[in-house]
Amino acid sequence: MEPAFNISSVSAVYIGSAAELLPRLLPQGRVVVITDAAVDRLYRPLLAPYEKVLIGRGESSKTLETVQTLYRRFIELGVDRRTFILAVGGGIVTDVAGFAAATYMRGLRFGFVPTTLLGQVDASVGGKNGVNVDGYKNMAGTFTQPQFVLCDPALLSTLPGREFRAGLAEIVKAAVIADAELFARLEGVMLGALRTDTTLLSEVVAAAIRVKAEIVGRDERERGERRKLNLGHTLAHAIEKCSDRMSHGEAVAVGTALIADAAVEMGVLSPADRDRIVALLGSLGFELRPPVELKRLLKEVEKDKKSEQGVLHVVLPLRIGDCEVRAMTVEEFRGLFAE
Ligand code: NAD
Repeated sequence: MEPAFNISSVSAVYIGSAAELLPRLLPQGRVVVITDAAVDRLYRPLLAPYEKVLIGRGESSKTLETVQTLYRRFIELGVDRRTFILAVGGGIVTDVAGFAAATYMRGLRFGFVPTTLLGQVDASVGGKNGVNVDGYKNMAGTFTQPQFVLCDPALLSTLPGREFRAGLAEIVKAAVIADAELFARLEGVMLGALRTDTTLLSEVVAAAIRVKAEIVGRDERERGERRKLNLGHTLAHAIEKCSDRMSHGEAVAVGTALIADAAVEMGVLSPADRDRIVALLGSLGFELRPPVELKRLLKEVEKDKKSEQGVLHVVLPLRIGDCEVRAMTVEEFRGLFAE
């Protein structure tokens, strides 16, 4: 069975039917599934053959406390280094389960079946597994690749519209970063078609994964190019910190539109390309006004624990399909939004 993509030598991404492929991808021996109650309810037959541990839903569950609960369950269940951990769910489940699997007994083997669009095109791919600390996003985590990621577009049919759209934000992000053809394709389709046409959806998912897989393949540890995948994320993380009205994907859409405006002000992006980015996000139904004042978001960026001694790595779109990472002081970043 040929994977669609390989990431480094250890991780393979498959696109296809989970019911068919999962039994072939799992190793012999004990498998423990980590999922949440909603996914468990929807996909019970798929998960029936395995032992299961449920975690809570939402960003408030993406914590070290949840990881510790998992460690305790693993001890109770007698999980050991021969056990294979399978995370089935959205980005919260794969982040928490990946972190727990990568650290329990110094690391168990694990695989992902992402069940949200955002999970398939972004969160499950690339080997970053993080949890939040005191509301600061992804402050503790590992770079550990899952053995496989299995993306089944059919699992997305039960996803609420808002969650589906959140994944589209990361697909648009991938297109702006490195795939002008994907961007043009998205401009030509209706949101409804993406939801109903599984072939179209599989192709779009595959194109977005390709962008991430190629970048991660060149810079697994985020020392340089991988930072491009953070387009729109500096402000998105500030939005998520200041307001719980927007999901991660929705905040990324706002962050992408704002940084495109800033890039036009700096003279590195043409107004025409900015307009295309804003129009595409708008046509997909994203609200592009930040939920709180920009001033407050910039204050939050200042407090961002991820700036390296006051320096941010800001991703600037240069044209559709190309971007660059520029090191800036927090002051310089604030200056981009002076108006
Ligand atoms: P999520 O994990 O919260 O899932 C959204 C909701 O959809 C949940 O309530 C879940 O129960 C439900 N759900 C999942 N699959 C479903 C299905 N098939 N049908 C119906 N409902 C379903 O949200 P998400 O958007 O998948 O992930 C967001 C998280 O991913 C954030 O914490 C973000 O930081 C993280 N993330 C991580 C990376 C990474 O590289 N590790 C990259 C991007 C995002």
